[in-house]
Amino acid sequence: MACAKPGHEGGCFCGAVRYRVDGPIESVTHCHCNSCRRSSGAAFVTWFTVPRERLAWSKGGVAQYPSSPGVVRGFCGTCGTELTYANDQAPKTIDITIGSLDCAAGHPADRHVWTADKLDWLRLDEQLPAHEGWSTEG
Ligand SMILES: [Zn+2]
Ligand SMILES: [Zn+2]
Repeated sequence: MACAKPGHEGGCFCGAVRYRVDGPIESVTHCHCNSCRRSSGAAFVTWFTVPRERLAWSKGGVAQYPSSPGVVRGFCGTCGTELTYANDQAPKTIDITIGSLDCAAGHPADRHVWTADKLDWLRLDEQLPAHEGWSTEG
């Protein structure tokens, strides 16, 4: 299902937090790092990355906590859905969970990162580039 509107909308599971992202979604990454796994409770987390000024909260806002030095994760304070990842080392961009997007199905991932932390039993989509650590390359 592709997005019908020029912007993209999404939010948490319970609906208390809603957001809008203007413009295209160009970078979608499966992250296998330990922090993503532990903070979400899922085997890995898929993020899309956008310039921070393109994200606007249309309802509510995220509760936040530092998950490692220089990193702040945002989640719904009511239902707990993980929503954002902001890293001081990338001050112009923010990551948002692809699963929180209303039209997630229209935005396939383009790479894997932190495969050094990947669960052994998880089989990757081998068509995609995979990086042992962090990478902005495809
Ligand atoms: Zn919620
Ligand atoms: Zn991660």
